[in-house]
Amino acid sequence: MPRGIIYLVGAGPGAPGLITLRGVECLKRAEVVVYDYLANEQLLNHAPATAERIYAGKIGGRHNQDQDEINRLLVSKGLEGKVVVRLKGGDPFVFGRGGEECEALCAAGIPFEIVPGVTAAVGASAYAGIPLTHRDFTASVAFVTGQEGKDKDESTIDWQHLALGSGTIVFYMGITTLRRNMQRLADNGRSPHTPVALVRWATTSGQQVLTGTIVDIADKAEAIGFKPPAVTIVGEVVGLRDQLRWFDNRPLSGRKIIVTRAAEQAGEFSAMLEARGATVLECPTIKLIEPDSWSELDVALTDMSRYDWLVLTSGNAVRFFFERLNALQLDSRALGGCKVCAVGPKTAEVIRTYGIRPDLIPADYKAEGVVAEFARLGINGQTVLYPRADKARDLIPQQLEVMGAHVMSPIAYRNVLPDRLCPEALFALEKRCVDCITFTSSSTVRNLSHLLGIDLLTDMLKGVTVASIGPITSKSCRDLGLKVDIEPAEYTLGALTEAIAQHFLISV
Ligand code: SAH
Repeated sequence: MPRGIIYLVGAGPGAPGLITLRGVECLKRAEVVVYDYLANEQLLNHAPATAERIYAGKIGGRHNQDQDEINRLLVSKGLEGKVVVRLKGGDPFVFGRGGEECEALCAAGIPFEIVPGVTAAVGASAYAGIPLTHRDFTASVAFVTGQEGKDKDESTIDWQHLALGSGTIVFYMGITTLRRNMQRLADNGRSPHTPVALVRWATTSGQQVLTGTIVDIADKAEAIGFKPPAVTIVGEVVGLRDQLRWFDNRPLSGRKIIVTRAAEQAGEFSAMLEARGATVLECPTIKLIEPDSWSELDVALTDMSRYDWLVLTSGNAVRFFFERLNALQLDSRALGGCKVCAVGPKTAEVIRTYGIRPDLIPADYKAEGVVAEFARLGINGQTVLYPRADKARDLIPQQLEVMGAHVMSPIAYRNVLPDRLCPEALFALEKRCVDCITFTSSSTVRNLSHLLGIDLLTDMLKGVTVASIGPITSKSCRDLGLKVDIEPAEYTLGALTEAIAQHFLISV
């Protein structure tokens, strides 16, 4: 009989980067992933597309029955010989029922490996700026379930020992029982003025922290309807947060921002906004697709020796160009002695990933800059290949031809409307919980208006801060009746990010 293996992997507390390298390795080879409510779904992207994904939250009805069914599922997949990742929030062995799952696997003789994870208490501690231990305050920390004794008359926790014996106490699953547990600490001698912090959805962009003391935290939590999942940190160390908080006080913390760039291009911009604390919703309003026909580009690619210059004016042009080269079973050597011009440093960076060092980057990073540079160098009688988007301006071919060059400009990709908009972003707009929408080219805003219709566009963006990358895009926004709130002095993603951060810093 084939024998599988079950990896019990700690997914970490929420932020997708907080899983271990070993955890990612296991996910990469998984045939089946059984995941929990608390494990970040983004982590499933590490698993092969073919892997079966099973949400454990859906199995069975009640809690214990759930667990039995999960155990049975793991055993049966193991017996089928599958490589299974059981992905659990935080650490599998900290209030994670990992022990029970391993016992079931042991009983069935199925091999397993346990990959630890950053447990919620540790994640919350780091991201709330509350060290769990500190030489000036405490040398001990206890992790406690807040549910113990909830369904029973007697708690098995020695409350007196807990209240006075441990400097820092972290309760898991302790929000619904908060009042009772704080009372127990006070009744057992812990000062009612001991600082307390509740940390909800720790390490994620939705992290919420509420601070108080043993005596008032339950009232405060009730007043704002504070909900699980959260850990409760009790101890003098909580006071250090005022000085050490770094995550939830960044300029864009708690702000929801929509990025409308094409999916292939959005990542870098989203990462910049996220680094300043924003929650980014990617809602591509542009889709990049292959040209109707490759024939024009293929003619060029199969005889690159005819060209003196290859001019590339966007990362997309670079990617489509080299991917097509690859599809034709060719590689960068096909370029031979052909010199390469990149419109700017970003495009040059993408070119370098294909093993080519650009020969020319103009001082002014736009089409006009390319033209100016060739005017300076002289291009009379030379042949130029300029693979471009279907909607690109004709400036480069026209101007270079005027200077006596022979320019061929085949279409390397097309810029089209996506079939639909991201439902999550639309939902957020409808619920009026979006703070800012960003437009990084005229087509991003025009396409959005096209897809929504102008009335819906103006209605949905009421009260939403509009950020545009530069004057051309801003004009397109205004033409559609939108008011532009943010436009950086320099037309780069970095400057746009800074301008957005500045805007929200001021408008707090
Ligand atoms: N095995 C998990 C704990 C599971 S028990 C771990 O090691 O973290 C579920 C409890 O964990 C929740 O009720 C909550 O108290 C805590 N928890 C899990 N993820 C959390 C998060 N991102 N932020 C705050 N608390 C979290």
